[in-house]
Amino acid sequence: MSVHEAAYHADGSLVGKLRRRIARLRHRRPVLRAPDRPMLSISFDDAPLTAAGIGAEILEQWGARGTFYAAAGLAGHFEPVGQCADRDDYLSLAKRGHEIGCHTFSHLDCGRASAQSAKADVALNAQAFRDWGLPPADSFAFPFGDVSSETKAGLAPDFAILRGLHEGVIQEGSDLNQAPAVGILGPGGETKARRWMQYALSKRSWLILYTHDVQTSPSPWGCTPDALARLLRSAADLNFELVTVREGAARLTL
Ligand SMILES: [Zn+2]
Repeated sequence: MSVHEAAYHADGSLVGKLRRRIARLRHRRPVLRAPDRPMLSISFDDAPLTAAGIGAEILEQWGARGTFYAAAGLAGHFEPVGQCADRDDYLSLAKRGHEIGCHTFSHLDCGRASAQSAKADVALNAQAFRDWGLPPADSFAFPFGDVSSETKAGLAPDFAILRGLHEGVIQEGSDLNQAPAVGILGPGGETKARRWMQYALSKRSWLILYTHDVQTSPSPWGCTPDALARLLRSAADLNFELVTVREGAARLTL
């Protein structure tokens, strides 16, 4: 069974929501200073081939690089977001300056897994990166955005930044161990992303956008190439600094 057959959403039960909320209050790594100018990152979760292909090309046309969150266990698999990228795609992306981040090996739900099994799954992904010839991942995205206090504490020491899926911008005081992000998802995704860009600008903060597939008829978790290109044009017009997630985190912690 596909790891994504159930849904891309986090555990939507009250218990799941409370677990994520409580985790947000604990094991924090607060940002100590605001960015010098507003920053924008574009990330692609699960890295379908369309993201590694046309998605990366659109970013490159704007002189930008993206962050691709890879679960090596999904490599080459067909998922609801399309076929996932494989070793050669990731190597090509890395060679062109894109960041390959960690998304666990098996697309593990870190809200329900023990800290021990989450760490073991992340270690498997790190081993796959080494076998493929990729550099170690500096950033991490929780699959489904789901997280518990225990897995957060267990994984935080291994990464410069860990990203969730709750909406928000990153500014002084924000938590790099459970950083917010805004989805470019489905038909309303572009409009929502644009609104958050305006907000990020007004707060001189850092906005991480995420999507999955990039194709003319995207899945409910993806966007069209045109939408992505228009958002990048807006980012340039609004004078955002386009950074990978790794670069963004480094700006705020160095
Ligand atoms: Zn994912």
